[in-house]
Formats: sequence, structure tokens, C-alpha cells
Amino acid sequence: MAHRIVLIAGDGIGPEVAAATRLVLDAADVGIEWIEMPAGAAALETDGALLPPHTLDAIRDCRVAIKGPITTPVGGGFRSVNVALRQDLDLFAAIRPARSLPGVPTRHVGVDLVIVRENTEDLYQGIEFERGTDAAAALRRRLREIGGFELKEDAGVTLKPISVTGAHRIVRFAFEYARSHRRHHITVGHKANVMRFSDGIFLEAAQQDAPDFPDIAMDAIQIDHLSARLARSPERFDVLLLPNLYGDIISDLCAGLVGGLGLIPGANIGWEYAVFEAVHGSAPDIAGQQKANPVAMILSGAMMLRHLGELDAAENVEWGVDETLRKGQVRTPDLGGTATTMAFAEAIAAEAVAWEHGPS
Ligand code: NAD
Repeated sequence: MAHRIVLIAGDGIGPEVAAATRLVLDAADVGIEWIEMPAGAAALETDGALLPPHTLDAIRDCRVAIKGPITTPVGGGFRSVNVALRQDLDLFAAIRPARSLPGVPTRHVGVDLVIVRENTEDLYQGIEFERGTDAAAALRRRLREIGGFELKEDAGVTLKPISVTGAHRIVRFAFEYARSHRRHHITVGHKANVMRFSDGIFLEAAQQDAPDFPDIAMDAIQIDHLSARLARSPERFDVLLLPNLYGDIISDLCAGLVGGLGLIPGANIGWEYAVFEAVHGSAPDIAGQQKANPVAMILSGAMMLRHLGELDAAENVEWGVDETLRKGQVRTPDLGGTATTMAFAEAIAAEAVAWEHGPS
């Protein structure tokens, strides 16, 4: 086999969309050996941990993984598996392309943008002080001492660190990504006028590094203004470069702009490892009913093929998705159809294979 890939099926609709993705990627026939590993609620039952160490070891060994969505138990002090993967493997860049797909009617046409989101810092670094704890009380005292800041006694606190090194590496990654994917314009979203010492660093890093990439234009917009402009004319944007939290929110916004969460692929990339996953969650409301749209995870698989250097296979899979959507005969309920998750995947695989053998 040419590629050893870790497959994490995940929770909720995860196993359904993961099986669909495996079917399509197997049809693309690039020689993938699947190493199935547990994570999420299922792993908590069998292995006593949401992210068992042997799953992490397998990803370190294979270097590339694709995963279905994972349910994060609310409360109970669990660290989100997604956040843990990003931090433990230092997957500092999240890539989320959002493009208008054929046969999916939306308010805007011609959207073709990519979100590059910093993935390890910001409010998602996980530095939190629970209301009423000794740690929160100590923080409150210390903040009063060092800056005269007054926190309410019943406040919980989440910190927002953004470092110079973290900002520069995502900025440079975004410019390199734009260059290698023939994109020409980066828009940085920030709120540096309010968060001067965190977003300010992010903005400054972009302004400092931009001159090293004279072939890529760069501008910066405050995140609230950017949201309004995206809602009005998303087709005008090319690459969006965002700190962690804004990147998370704007990814879902852009998913909505091009037809829904079931359609947006994603990749989490670091210098050593890459984990591909759809943007959507585990959708417990439709789990186990074969209603889930597998396109997001299948397109994440196409991104993975490109990352592996299997460019033709990646294009075949994307063609298979586009052609199935264009014909419109087989589609899941979120797109107004009645097909099952697996039937949708079989149609995509058939189109991808037909294209591979040349258009008829
Ligand atoms: P969600 O994305 O699971 O669902 C939001 C809505 O979109 C639901 O109505 C759902 O039915 C629909 N939807 C999502 N994916 C779909 C698909 N492929 N096909 C058709 N419809 C789809 O968001 P949520 O309900 O906020 O989160 C549910 C769980 O997923 C939570 O535990 C959350 O922590 C987790 N989550 C995981 C990831 C991940 O693993 N990457 C990402 C986001 C949320």
C-alpha cells in the first residue's frame, strides 16, 4: 500500500460519513491502508479516554489522519478531542475552503474562498479559571496587584494569548498557502483596536511579513466589519487569515453561505502531521439514520489526497462530488433529496471513477 492513513470514525454521524468517505477514497484507488483508531465517546467507553494514547501514537506513526466529528461532553472537565489533537500534534493551521457548489442553490454565486485559521492559541488555548475556585481567587488578587484590574467575585475567566511566534508562523503559512494554491489576496480579520496586545500582535505580524510576498496582496479588516462584508458579497474574498476564535465562527458563517455545514471540508496542518476533518459536528439529531451528508468529509478526503501528492485522484473525487450535485438525482435530505448517506457516496464514487476513465 502506498499510504498508511489513520481513520477515526468519531461519534454521532461520524461512522456513517467515515464509511462513505472510505468508499469514495477506495474507489479513487491510490493504495490506502486504513488504520482504524478510536476517539470520542466510543473510546471513552472502550479505552477510558476520549483520546487514547495509542490513537495519538498511530497518528504520529502514519503522520496523516482523517477523522469524523467527535462529541465533546458538556461539563465534566473534558478537554475537547479536537482541541487536544491540535495542541498535542501542534496542528497550528486550519484550512477551510468554502466554494459555491453546482446544483446547490444559495443566495450568493461564485464564492470561492479559503479560511486559514490559527489553531492553537487565542481563547481556545484552554487557559481557564473556574468561577469560585482558589485559582480564580488567586488570579483576581494578582490582577488587582499588577494592574489595578477588578474582576467580579463570581466571574469565570478564559485567557486569550496570541504570541509573536505563533502569529508569524500562521501568517507565513497563509502566504505560502496562497502562493502554492494560485491565490492572490489575503484579508486579515482582527479586532486590534480593542484587543491591542493580542489581536494587535496578529495584525502586526501580517503587516511585517506581507512585504516578503510581493505577489500576494494583503489587507486587514476589523472582524465585525468583515462579517458584514462577507454576508453582503462573499465572492469578493480570496483567502481569509484569522485568529482561532474568529476563524471558528467565520468558518461556519461561510459554510452557511455556500449551502450548509454538510458541505465544508477542512484540514488541520502542522510542520509534521496533518489531520483532515469536516467542519460540522456529530449531529446527534440525525445520527444513525443514514441522513447525514457525507460531502464535507469526502471533500476533506480530497484535500488529504492532494496533501499526499495524489493530485489526479483528488481532482477525480472533487469532480465526482460536483457532478453528482450538478445532476441532482442523488442527494441527502439536507439538500432536499431522499438518498441515504451511503447511496450518495456510491453515486459520487461512480462519477469519480467514470471521470478517471475519461469523460464519456
Ligand atoms: P453539528 O454540526 O453537529 O450540527 C448542527 C446542525 O447541522 C444540526 O442540525 C445537524 O443535523 C446539521 N448537520 C451537521 N452536519 C451535517 C451533515 N453532515 N449532514 C446533514 N446535516 C448536518 O453542531 P452541534 O449540534 O453544535 O454539535 C454537536 C456535537 O458535535 C457537539 O458535541 C460538538 O462539540 C461536536 N462538534 C464536533 C466537531 C468536530 O469533531 N470537528 C465540530 C463541531 C462540533
